[in-house]
Amino acid sequence: MKRVAVVGGGITGLAACLRLLSSDANVRVVLYEASDRLGGRVQTIREPHLGITVEAGPDSMLARKPAAMRLIEALGMADDVVSTRPEASETYIVRDGSLCPMPKGYLGIPFDPSCARPPLLSEAGLARALAEERLPLELPADDVALGAFLRSRLGDEWVSYVGEPLMAGIYAGDIDRLSLLATWPSLLDLVRQHGSLVAASRAIAASPSRRQAGSSRSAFITVRGGLASIVERMADRLAQSGRVEIRLGARVQAVTRRGPAYRFHVETRSGERFDDDADGAVIAIAPQDARAMLRPLFELPDVDTHHQSTATVVLVYARTAFGPDLARASGFLVPRPEGMAITATTWMSSKWPHVSPESLTVIRAYVGRRGQDEALALPDDELVRRAANEVGRLTGAREHPIWTRVTRFSEAMPNYGVGHLGRVARAEAALRASCPSMAVAGAGYRGVGLPDCVEQGERAADHVLAAIDA
Ligand SMILES: Cc1cc2nc3c(=O)[nH]c(=O)nc-3n(C[C@H](O)[C@H](O)[C@H](O)COP(=O)(O)OP(=O)(O)OC[C@H]3O[C@@H](n4cnc5c(N)ncnc54)[C@H](O)[C@@H]3O)c2cc1C
Repeated sequence: MKRVAVVGGGITGLAACLRLLSSDANVRVVLYEASDRLGGRVQTIREPHLGITVEAGPDSMLARKPAAMRLIEALGMADDVVSTRPEASETYIVRDGSLCPMPKGYLGIPFDPSCARPPLLSEAGLARALAEERLPLELPADDVALGAFLRSRLGDEWVSYVGEPLMAGIYAGDIDRLSLLATWPSLLDLVRQHGSLVAASRAIAASPSRRQAGSSRSAFITVRGGLASIVERMADRLAQSGRVEIRLGARVQAVTRRGPAYRFHVETRSGERFDDDADGAVIAIAPQDARAMLRPLFELPDVDTHHQSTATVVLVYARTAFGPDLARASGFLVPRPEGMAITATTWMSSKWPHVSPESLTVIRAYVGRRGQDEALALPDDELVRRAANEVGRLTGAREHPIWTRVTRFSEAMPNYGVGHLGRVARAEAALRASCPSMAVAGAGYRGVGLPDCVEQGERAADHVLAAIDA
Protein backbone atom coordinates (compact mmCIF):
# COMPACT_ATOMS: atom_id res chain seq x y z
CA MET A 1 0.00 0.00 0.00
CA LYS A 2 1.36 3.44 -0.97
CA ARG A 3 1.57 6.31 1.51
CA VAL A 4 0.67 9.89 0.67
CA ALA A 5 1.44 12.84 2.95
CA VAL A 6 -0.81 15.90 2.95
CA VAL A 7 0.76 18.98 4.55
CA GLY A 8 -1.77 21.57 5.78
CA GLY A 9 -5.23 20.87 7.18
CA GLY A 10 -7.05 23.86 5.69
CA ILE A 11 -9.87 23.38 3.20
CA THR A 12 -7.32 22.61 0.44
CA GLY A 13 -5.56 19.85 2.34
CA LEU A 14 -8.85 18.37 3.51
CA ALA A 15 -10.23 18.30 -0.03
CA ALA A 16 -7.04 16.59 -1.17
CA CYS A 17 -7.38 13.94 1.57
CA LEU A 18 -10.99 13.18 0.63
CA ARG A 19 -10.08 12.83 -3.03
CA LEU A 20 -7.14 10.53 -2.23
CA LEU A 21 -9.43 8.29 -0.21
CA SER A 22 -12.47 8.40 -2.49
CA SER A 23 -10.53 6.83 -5.33
CA ASP A 24 -10.11 3.06 -5.57
CA ALA A 25 -6.42 3.61 -5.08
CA ASN A 26 -4.67 1.54 -2.50
CA VAL A 27 -3.31 4.42 -0.40
CA ARG A 28 -2.92 5.43 3.19
CA VAL A 29 -2.87 9.15 3.95
CA VAL A 30 -1.15 11.07 6.72
CA LEU A 31 -2.38 14.64 7.21
CA TYR A 32 -0.04 17.01 9.08
CA GLU A 33 -1.55 20.14 10.55
CA ALA A 34 0.65 22.54 12.50
CA SER A 35 -2.14 23.99 14.66
CA ASP A 36 -4.39 22.07 17.02
CA ARG A 37 -7.45 22.26 14.76
CA LEU A 38 -8.50 21.59 11.17
CA GLY A 39 -9.95 24.17 8.79
CA GLY A 40 -7.17 26.79 8.59
CA ARG A 41 -8.82 30.13 7.79
CA VAL A 42 -12.30 28.62 8.18
CA GLN A 43 -13.40 29.52 11.70
CA THR A 44 -17.01 29.66 12.81
CA ILE A 45 -17.89 31.38 16.08
CA ARG A 46 -20.73 29.61 17.89
CA GLU A 47 -22.13 31.31 20.96
CA PRO A 48 -25.12 29.26 22.16
CA HIS A 49 -25.98 31.69 24.99
CA LEU A 50 -26.60 34.44 22.38
CA GLY A 51 -27.88 32.06 19.72
CA ILE A 52 -25.30 33.27 17.18
CA THR A 53 -23.39 31.33 14.51
CA VAL A 54 -21.08 33.76 12.76
CA GLU A 55 -17.98 33.38 10.65
CA ALA A 56 -14.69 34.82 11.88
CA GLY A 57 -12.97 33.94 8.60
CA PRO A 58 -14.54 33.20 5.22
CA ASP A 59 -18.21 34.00 5.21
CA SER A 60 -19.62 32.05 2.26
CA MET A 61 -18.85 30.39 -1.07
CA LEU A 62 -19.50 31.56 -4.59
CA ALA A 63 -22.37 29.32 -5.70
CA ARG A 64 -21.55 29.43 -9.41
CA LYS A 65 -18.22 27.68 -8.86
CA PRO A 66 -19.15 23.99 -9.11
CA ALA A 67 -16.61 22.72 -6.59
CA ALA A 68 -18.57 24.32 -3.73
CA MET A 69 -21.88 22.55 -4.33
CA ARG A 70 -20.12 19.35 -5.39
CA LEU A 71 -18.36 19.18 -2.05
CA ILE A 72 -21.51 19.98 -0.09
CA GLU A 73 -23.45 17.28 -1.96
CA ALA A 74 -20.68 14.72 -1.56
CA LEU A 75 -20.79 15.37 2.18
CA GLY A 76 -24.56 14.84 2.25
CA MET A 77 -25.16 18.45 3.31
CA ALA A 78 -27.30 19.71 0.42
CA ASP A 79 -30.31 20.13 2.76
CA ASP A 80 -28.24 22.40 5.01
CA VAL A 81 -27.45 24.94 2.28
CA VAL A 82 -28.43 28.51 3.15
CA SER A 83 -28.70 31.33 0.60
CA THR A 84 -28.44 35.04 1.29
CA ARG A 85 -31.73 36.79 2.08
CA PRO A 86 -32.91 38.55 -1.09
CA GLU A 87 -34.16 41.53 0.93
CA ALA A 88 -30.61 42.32 2.14
CA SER A 89 -29.81 43.79 -1.24
CA GLU A 90 -28.34 47.21 -0.51
CA THR A 91 -24.57 47.64 -0.41
CA TYR A 92 -23.29 51.06 0.58
CA ILE A 93 -20.01 52.85 -0.01
CA VAL A 94 -18.66 55.52 2.31
CA ARG A 95 -17.86 58.89 0.81
CA ASP A 96 -17.01 61.97 2.86
CA GLY A 97 -18.12 60.15 6.00
CA SER A 98 -21.61 59.14 4.85
CA LEU A 99 -23.16 55.99 3.39
CA CYS A 100 -24.05 56.18 -0.31
CA PRO A 101 -25.77 53.38 -2.26
CA MET A 102 -23.41 51.48 -4.51
CA PRO A 103 -23.91 52.40 -8.18
CA LYS A 104 -26.41 50.22 -10.01
CA GLY A 105 -24.83 47.84 -12.50
CA TYR A 106 -22.68 44.73 -12.47
CA LEU A 107 -19.79 45.27 -9.99
CA GLY A 108 -20.96 48.85 -9.55
CA ILE A 109 -20.15 49.68 -13.19
CA PRO A 110 -22.72 52.33 -14.19
CA PHE A 111 -24.45 52.01 -17.55
CA ASP A 112 -26.51 55.22 -17.62
CA PRO A 113 -26.49 58.54 -15.74
CA SER A 114 -29.14 57.37 -13.25
CA CYS A 115 -26.89 54.55 -11.91
CA ALA A 116 -24.94 56.74 -9.49
CA ARG A 117 -25.05 60.27 -8.23
CA PRO A 118 -23.04 62.68 -6.10
CA PRO A 119 -21.62 62.54 -3.52
CA LEU A 120 -20.45 58.96 -4.30
CA LEU A 121 -19.33 59.95 -7.79
CA SER A 122 -19.07 63.53 -8.97
CA GLU A 123 -20.82 64.35 -12.25
CA ALA A 124 -17.43 64.43 -13.95
CA GLY A 125 -16.44 61.08 -12.40
CA LEU A 126 -19.68 59.44 -13.52
CA ALA A 127 -19.38 60.92 -17.02
CA ARG A 128 -15.82 59.61 -17.25
CA ALA A 129 -16.92 56.10 -16.27
CA LEU A 130 -19.80 56.14 -18.79
CA ALA A 131 -17.45 57.35 -21.53
CA GLU A 132 -15.77 53.94 -21.35
CA GLU A 133 -18.39 52.73 -23.80
CA ARG A 134 -16.82 54.89 -26.51
CA LEU A 135 -13.23 53.78 -25.89
CA PRO A 136 -11.54 51.68 -28.58
CA LEU A 137 -11.47 47.98 -27.89
CA GLU A 138 -7.82 47.80 -26.87
CA LEU A 139 -6.98 45.03 -24.49
CA PRO A 140 -3.62 44.46 -22.80
CA ALA A 141 -1.54 41.82 -24.59
CA ASP A 142 -0.09 40.58 -21.30
CA ASP A 143 -0.88 40.73 -17.61
CA VAL A 144 -1.20 44.23 -16.13
CA ALA A 145 -2.27 45.62 -12.77
CA LEU A 146 -6.03 45.41 -12.18
CA GLY A 147 -5.92 49.10 -11.22
CA ALA A 148 -4.14 50.16 -14.40
CA PHE A 149 -6.70 48.33 -16.53
CA LEU A 150 -9.71 49.75 -14.69
CA ARG A 151 -8.29 53.28 -14.47
CA SER A 152 -7.68 53.31 -18.22
CA ARG A 153 -11.25 52.23 -18.86
CA LEU A 154 -13.44 53.74 -16.13
CA GLY A 155 -11.33 56.58 -14.71
CA ASP A 156 -9.62 57.27 -11.38
CA GLU A 157 -12.67 58.40 -9.43
CA TRP A 158 -14.69 55.25 -10.15
CA VAL A 159 -11.64 53.14 -9.28
CA SER A 160 -10.97 54.96 -5.97
CA TYR A 161 -14.57 54.94 -4.77
CA VAL A 162 -16.06 51.78 -6.29
CA GLY A 163 -13.57 49.46 -8.00
CA GLU A 164 -10.83 49.53 -5.36
CA PRO A 165 -12.91 48.86 -2.25
CA LEU A 166 -15.03 46.24 -4.02
CA MET A 167 -12.60 44.33 -6.20
CA ALA A 168 -9.29 44.72 -4.35
CA GLY A 169 -11.18 44.47 -1.04
CA ILE A 170 -11.71 40.74 -1.55
CA TYR A 171 -7.92 40.34 -1.39
CA ALA A 172 -7.32 43.02 1.27
CA GLY A 173 -5.11 44.20 -1.56
CA ASP A 174 -3.92 47.29 -3.41
CA ILE A 175 -5.64 47.49 -6.78
CA ASP A 176 -2.52 48.95 -8.42
CA ARG A 177 -0.46 45.89 -7.47
CA LEU A 178 -2.91 43.04 -8.06
CA SER A 179 -2.69 40.98 -11.24
CA LEU A 180 -5.61 41.44 -13.64
CA LEU A 181 -5.26 37.91 -15.03
CA ALA A 182 -5.01 36.20 -11.64
CA THR A 183 -7.85 38.12 -9.96
CA TRP A 184 -10.51 39.34 -12.42
CA PRO A 185 -9.80 37.81 -15.87
CA SER A 186 -13.56 37.79 -16.51
CA LEU A 187 -13.36 41.58 -17.07
CA LEU A 188 -11.41 40.96 -20.27
CA ASP A 189 -14.03 38.46 -21.47
CA LEU A 190 -16.76 41.02 -20.79
CA VAL A 191 -14.99 43.66 -22.88
CA ARG A 192 -14.36 41.16 -25.68
CA GLN A 193 -17.97 40.03 -25.65
CA HIS A 194 -19.74 43.39 -25.26
CA GLY A 195 -17.20 45.91 -26.53
CA SER A 196 -16.96 47.69 -23.17
CA LEU A 197 -17.53 47.16 -19.45
CA VAL A 198 -20.38 49.69 -19.50
CA ALA A 199 -22.19 47.78 -22.27
CA ALA A 200 -21.55 44.51 -20.41
CA SER A 201 -23.01 45.95 -17.21
CA ARG A 202 -26.10 47.13 -19.10
CA ALA A 203 -26.56 43.73 -20.76
CA ILE A 204 -26.20 41.87 -17.47
CA ALA A 205 -28.73 44.15 -15.77
CA ALA A 206 -31.21 43.49 -18.58
CA SER A 207 -30.66 39.73 -18.84
CA PRO A 208 -33.59 37.59 -17.67
CA SER A 209 -31.32 35.14 -15.82
CA ARG A 210 -30.00 38.05 -13.75
CA ARG A 211 -33.47 39.27 -12.90
CA GLN A 212 -34.62 35.79 -11.92
CA ALA A 213 -31.50 35.17 -9.85
CA GLY A 214 -33.00 36.84 -6.80
CA SER A 215 -35.82 34.34 -6.66
CA SER A 216 -33.67 31.20 -6.81
CA ARG A 217 -30.35 30.40 -5.10
CA SER A 218 -28.25 33.46 -4.31
CA ALA A 219 -24.77 34.15 -5.65
CA PHE A 220 -23.24 33.13 -2.31
CA ILE A 221 -24.06 30.11 -0.19
CA THR A 222 -23.11 28.62 3.14
CA VAL A 223 -24.54 25.90 5.37
CA ARG A 224 -26.75 26.21 8.42
CA GLY A 225 -24.13 25.27 11.03
CA GLY A 226 -21.56 27.63 9.50
CA LEU A 227 -18.59 26.76 7.30
CA ALA A 228 -16.89 24.92 10.19
CA SER A 229 -19.58 22.26 9.90
CA ILE A 230 -18.27 21.47 6.40
CA VAL A 231 -14.80 21.03 7.89
CA GLU A 232 -16.23 18.86 10.67
CA ARG A 233 -18.07 16.67 8.16
CA MET A 234 -14.90 16.34 6.07
CA ALA A 235 -12.97 15.27 9.17
CA ASP A 236 -15.70 12.71 10.03
CA ARG A 237 -15.50 11.23 6.54
CA LEU A 238 -11.74 10.95 6.81
CA ALA A 239 -11.99 9.23 10.19
CA GLN A 240 -14.64 6.80 8.86
CA SER A 241 -12.37 5.76 6.00
CA GLY A 242 -9.96 4.11 8.43
CA ARG A 243 -7.14 4.91 6.00
CA VAL A 244 -6.06 8.32 7.22
CA GLU A 245 -3.99 9.40 10.16
CA ILE A 246 -4.59 13.03 11.20
CA ARG A 247 -1.65 14.52 13.09
CA LEU A 248 -2.70 17.78 14.74
CA GLY A 249 -0.06 20.05 16.26
CA ALA A 250 2.49 18.55 13.83
CA ARG A 251 4.47 21.00 11.71
CA VAL A 252 6.46 19.62 8.80
CA GLN A 253 9.79 21.43 9.09
CA ALA A 254 11.58 19.99 6.07
CA VAL A 255 11.33 17.37 3.37
CA THR A 256 14.27 15.31 2.13
CA ARG A 257 14.60 12.37 -0.21
CA ARG A 258 14.70 8.74 0.84
CA GLY A 259 15.30 6.59 -2.23
CA PRO A 260 12.32 7.00 -4.53
CA ALA A 261 10.22 8.29 -1.58
CA TYR A 262 10.26 11.45 0.53
CA ARG A 263 11.08 11.87 4.18
CA PHE A 264 9.04 14.36 6.22
CA HIS A 265 10.78 15.88 9.24
CA VAL A 266 8.07 16.83 11.70
CA GLU A 267 8.05 18.76 14.98
CA THR A 268 5.09 18.66 17.36
CA ARG A 269 3.86 21.58 19.45
CA SER A 270 5.44 19.96 22.51
CA GLY A 271 8.84 19.95 20.76
CA GLU A 272 8.94 16.22 19.95
CA ARG A 273 10.57 15.45 16.59
CA PHE A 274 9.97 12.49 14.32
CA ASP A 275 10.41 11.47 10.67
CA ASP A 276 7.88 9.84 8.36
CA ASP A 277 8.21 8.53 4.81
CA ALA A 278 5.71 8.83 1.98
CA ASP A 279 5.59 7.94 -1.73
CA GLY A 280 3.81 11.15 -2.72
CA ALA A 281 2.59 14.40 -1.19
CA VAL A 282 0.14 17.26 -1.52
CA ILE A 283 1.64 20.44 -0.07
CA ALA A 284 -1.32 22.65 0.87
CA ILE A 285 0.37 25.54 2.67
CA ALA A 286 1.40 29.08 1.62
CA PRO A 287 3.97 29.16 -1.24
CA GLN A 288 6.74 30.81 0.79
CA ASP A 289 6.33 28.19 3.55
CA ALA A 290 6.32 25.39 0.98
CA ARG A 291 9.49 26.81 -0.52
CA ALA A 292 11.30 26.90 2.85
CA MET A 293 10.06 23.41 3.73
CA LEU A 294 11.18 21.90 0.41
CA ARG A 295 14.56 23.68 0.29
CA PRO A 296 16.60 20.64 1.47
CA LEU A 297 15.01 18.68 -1.41
CA PHE A 298 15.05 21.24 -4.19
CA GLU A 299 14.66 24.98 -4.86
CA LEU A 300 10.98 25.64 -5.65
CA PRO A 301 10.82 28.75 -7.87
CA ASP A 302 9.50 31.77 -5.98
CA VAL A 303 5.83 32.61 -6.56
CA ASP A 304 6.59 35.91 -4.84
CA THR A 305 3.17 36.68 -3.45
CA HIS A 306 2.59 39.28 -0.76
CA HIS A 307 0.41 37.84 2.03
CA GLN A 308 -1.62 40.54 3.76
CA SER A 309 -2.58 40.32 7.44
CA THR A 310 -6.17 41.18 8.30
CA ALA A 311 -8.57 41.00 11.23
CA THR A 312 -12.31 40.68 11.59
CA VAL A 313 -14.27 42.32 14.40
CA VAL A 314 -17.70 40.86 15.14
CA LEU A 315 -20.03 43.39 16.75
CA VAL A 316 -23.34 42.12 18.13
CA TYR A 317 -26.01 44.74 18.84
CA ALA A 318 -29.58 44.68 20.05
CA ARG A 319 -31.75 45.05 16.92
CA THR A 320 -33.12 48.29 18.40
CA ALA A 321 -29.69 49.91 17.93
CA PHE A 322 -30.39 50.66 14.25
CA GLY A 323 -33.16 52.56 12.51
CA PRO A 324 -35.40 51.08 9.78
CA ASP A 325 -33.51 52.86 6.97
CA LEU A 326 -30.76 50.19 7.19
CA ALA A 327 -33.16 47.23 7.14
CA ARG A 328 -32.06 46.26 3.60
CA ALA A 329 -28.33 46.74 4.22
CA SER A 330 -25.99 43.90 3.35
CA GLY A 331 -22.89 45.90 4.25
CA PHE A 332 -20.71 48.83 3.31
CA LEU A 333 -17.30 49.38 1.76
CA VAL A 334 -14.79 51.99 2.89
CA PRO A 335 -12.62 53.51 0.12
CA ARG A 336 -8.99 54.25 1.05
CA PRO A 337 -9.26 58.05 0.92
CA GLU A 338 -11.78 57.92 3.81
CA GLY A 339 -8.83 56.97 6.07
CA MET A 340 -10.75 54.75 8.48
CA ALA A 341 -9.58 51.70 10.46
CA ILE A 342 -12.31 49.47 9.03
CA THR A 343 -12.19 48.63 5.35
CA ALA A 344 -15.69 47.15 5.01
CA THR A 345 -18.53 45.62 7.00
CA THR A 346 -20.94 42.79 6.34
CA TRP A 347 -24.36 42.83 7.99
CA MET A 348 -24.28 39.14 8.78
CA SER A 349 -27.70 38.94 10.44
CA SER A 350 -29.43 40.75 7.54
CA LYS A 351 -27.68 38.66 4.90
CA TRP A 352 -28.06 35.22 6.45
CA PRO A 353 -31.10 33.70 8.16
CA HIS A 354 -29.13 31.35 10.44
CA VAL A 355 -26.76 33.85 12.08
CA SER A 356 -28.77 35.20 15.03
CA PRO A 357 -32.21 35.52 16.56
CA GLU A 358 -34.37 38.40 15.26
CA SER A 359 -33.63 40.40 18.40
CA LEU A 360 -29.96 40.90 17.42
CA THR A 361 -28.01 42.62 14.64
CA VAL A 362 -24.64 41.04 13.91
CA ILE A 363 -22.13 43.15 12.00
CA ARG A 364 -18.70 42.01 10.95
CA ALA A 365 -16.06 44.65 10.27
CA TYR A 366 -12.81 43.99 8.38
CA VAL A 367 -9.56 45.69 9.34
CA GLY A 368 -6.30 45.87 7.40
CA ARG A 369 -5.43 45.99 3.74
CA ARG A 370 -2.16 46.39 1.90
CA GLY A 371 -0.71 49.83 2.58
CA GLN A 372 -3.42 50.67 5.14
CA ASP A 373 -3.00 48.32 8.07
CA GLU A 374 -1.79 50.47 11.00
CA ALA A 375 -4.95 49.61 12.97
CA LEU A 376 -3.85 45.96 13.15
CA ALA A 377 -1.21 47.03 15.68
CA LEU A 378 -3.94 48.07 18.16
CA PRO A 379 -4.74 45.74 21.06
CA ASP A 380 -8.09 43.92 20.79
CA ASP A 381 -10.07 46.23 23.10
CA GLU A 382 -8.88 49.34 21.24
CA LEU A 383 -9.60 47.72 17.88
CA VAL A 384 -13.15 46.95 19.01
CA ARG A 385 -13.57 50.53 20.22
CA ARG A 386 -12.34 51.98 16.89
CA ALA A 387 -14.51 49.63 14.82
CA ALA A 388 -17.63 50.24 16.94
CA ASN A 389 -17.07 54.03 16.86
CA GLU A 390 -16.72 54.05 13.09
CA VAL A 391 -19.77 51.83 12.57
CA GLY A 392 -21.70 53.98 15.06
CA ARG A 393 -20.74 57.25 13.34
CA LEU A 394 -21.70 55.97 9.89
CA THR A 395 -24.96 54.26 10.83
CA GLY A 396 -26.17 56.46 13.67
CA ALA A 397 -26.29 53.39 15.97
CA ARG A 398 -28.20 54.33 19.11
CA GLU A 399 -26.61 51.68 21.34
CA HIS A 400 -23.21 50.07 21.92
CA PRO A 401 -22.49 46.46 20.94
CA ILE A 402 -23.41 43.93 23.62
CA TRP A 403 -20.83 41.33 22.52
CA THR A 404 -17.65 41.55 20.42
CA ARG A 405 -14.90 39.26 19.12
CA VAL A 406 -11.64 40.06 17.31
CA THR A 407 -10.03 37.37 15.13
CA ARG A 408 -6.63 38.04 13.61
CA PHE A 409 -5.34 36.43 10.43
CA SER A 410 -1.59 36.79 10.10
CA GLU A 411 -0.29 36.99 6.52
CA ALA A 412 -3.52 35.35 5.44
CA MET A 413 -4.56 36.96 2.18
CA PRO A 414 -2.49 36.20 -0.90
CA ASN A 415 -2.20 39.33 -3.06
CA TYR A 416 -1.37 37.96 -6.50
CA GLY A 417 1.03 40.38 -8.19
CA VAL A 418 1.29 41.10 -11.92
CA GLY A 419 2.65 37.99 -13.68
CA HIS A 420 1.44 35.67 -10.88
CA LEU A 421 0.05 32.92 -13.12
CA GLY A 422 3.31 32.68 -15.06
CA ARG A 423 5.29 32.31 -11.82
CA VAL A 424 2.87 29.63 -10.55
CA ALA A 425 3.17 27.71 -13.84
CA ARG A 426 6.99 27.83 -13.58
CA ALA A 427 6.91 26.60 -9.96
CA GLU A 428 4.53 23.76 -10.85
CA ALA A 429 6.63 22.71 -13.84
CA ALA A 430 9.84 22.71 -11.78
CA LEU A 431 8.17 20.64 -9.07
CA ARG A 432 6.86 18.14 -11.62
CA ALA A 433 10.34 17.78 -13.08
CA SER A 434 12.15 17.34 -9.74
CA CYS A 435 9.50 15.67 -7.58
CA PRO A 436 6.92 14.09 -9.91
CA SER A 437 4.75 12.62 -7.16
CA MET A 438 4.40 15.90 -5.29
CA ALA A 439 1.96 18.74 -5.94
CA VAL A 440 1.35 22.17 -4.43
CA ALA A 441 -2.14 23.62 -3.99
CA GLY A 442 -4.09 26.24 -2.09
CA ALA A 443 -4.94 29.89 -1.78
CA GLY A 444 -1.44 31.10 -2.64
CA TYR A 445 -1.56 29.61 -6.13
CA ARG A 446 -4.71 29.49 -8.26
CA GLY A 447 -7.55 31.27 -6.50
CA VAL A 448 -8.26 32.29 -2.89
CA GLY A 449 -11.97 31.40 -2.80
CA LEU A 450 -12.98 28.25 -0.95
CA PRO A 451 -14.28 26.54 -4.13
CA ASP A 452 -10.96 27.35 -5.86
CA CYS A 453 -9.08 25.81 -2.95
CA VAL A 454 -11.26 22.68 -2.99
CA GLU A 455 -10.68 22.27 -6.70
CA GLN A 456 -6.93 22.75 -6.35
CA GLY A 457 -6.76 20.19 -3.53
CA GLU A 458 -8.66 17.64 -5.61
CA ARG A 459 -6.50 18.22 -8.68
CA ALA A 460 -3.33 17.91 -6.66
CA ALA A 461 -4.58 14.60 -5.25
CA ASP A 462 -5.36 13.32 -8.77
CA HIS A 463 -1.87 14.29 -9.90
CA VAL A 464 -0.22 12.46 -7.00
CA LEU A 465 -2.37 9.34 -7.46
CA ALA A 466 -1.43 9.18 -11.14
CA ALA A 467 2.25 9.70 -10.34
CA ILE A 468 2.52 6.99 -7.66
CA ASP A 469 0.38 4.65 -9.76
CA ALA A 470 -1.43 3.43 -6.65
C1 LIG B 1 -10.92 37.16 6.82
C2 LIG B 1 -11.06 36.27 5.59
C3 LIG B 1 -12.25 36.26 4.90
C4 LIG B 1 -12.38 35.43 3.78
N1 LIG B 1 -13.60 35.38 3.15
C5 LIG B 1 -13.81 34.45 2.19
C6 LIG B 1 -15.13 34.22 1.70
O1 LIG B 1 -16.11 34.81 2.15
N2 LIG B 1 -15.29 33.27 0.73
C7 LIG B 1 -14.23 32.55 0.24
O2 LIG B 1 -14.46 31.69 -0.65
N3 LIG B 1 -12.97 32.73 0.72
C8 LIG B 1 -12.74 33.66 1.68
N4 LIG B 1 -11.48 33.81 2.21
C9 LIG B 1 -10.36 33.04 1.63
C10 LIG B 1 -10.32 31.59 2.12
O3 LIG B 1 -10.75 31.52 3.45
C11 LIG B 1 -8.91 31.04 2.06
O4 LIG B 1 -8.32 31.34 0.81
C12 LIG B 1 -8.89 29.53 2.25
O5 LIG B 1 -9.56 29.17 3.45
C13 LIG B 1 -7.46 29.03 2.27
O6 LIG B 1 -7.44 27.63 2.46
P1 LIG B 1 -6.07 26.82 2.41
O7 LIG B 1 -6.37 25.44 2.83
O8 LIG B 1 -5.43 27.01 1.07
O9 LIG B 1 -5.11 27.54 3.46
P2 LIG B 1 -5.27 27.71 5.03
O10 LIG B 1 -6.67 27.81 5.43
O11 LIG B 1 -4.34 28.80 5.39
O12 LIG B 1 -4.71 26.32 5.59
C14 LIG B 1 -3.34 26.01 5.61
C15 LIG B 1 -3.10 25.14 6.84
O13 LIG B 1 -1.76 24.65 6.80
C16 LIG B 1 -1.23 24.65 8.11
N5 LIG B 1 0.23 24.67 7.98
C17 LIG B 1 1.01 25.71 7.55
N6 LIG B 1 2.31 25.31 7.50
C18 LIG B 1 2.35 24.02 7.90
C19 LIG B 1 3.39 23.05 8.04
N7 LIG B 1 4.67 23.35 7.75
N8 LIG B 1 3.08 21.79 8.49
C20 LIG B 1 1.79 21.46 8.77
N9 LIG B 1 0.75 22.36 8.65
C21 LIG B 1 1.03 23.61 8.21
C22 LIG B 1 -1.83 25.89 8.74
O14 LIG B 1 -1.84 25.79 10.16
C23 LIG B 1 -3.24 25.90 8.15
O15 LIG B 1 -4.17 25.22 8.97
C24 LIG B 1 -11.30 34.63 3.34
C25 LIG B 1 -10.09 34.66 4.03
C26 LIG B 1 -9.96 35.47 5.16
C27 LIG B 1 -8.66 35.45 5.92
